[in-house]
Amino acid sequence: MAITKITIEDGCTGCGLCEQIAEGIFEIPSDVAVVKAGADLNANEAKIKEAADSCPVTCIKVA
Ligand code: SF4
Repeated sequence: MAITKITIEDGCTGCGLCEQIAEGIFEIPSDVAVVKAGADLNANEAKIKEAADSCPVTCIKVA
């Protein structure tokens, strides 16, 4: 199913793993990860899911 929304919940440590896995989607501008403006969610679905599965504190929620 297509991804329509990504939420970064409380608990992100800013480790940068999601940015490494899905570079065009996540960035860590300060302390915590955010979803980049204009990120193409559908074209990066597999990487987004991999990042969510890999997040050490499981704070990336995909809907
Ligand atoms: S992988 Fe998880 S904890 Fe690490 S920066 Fe990304 S959202 Fe935050």
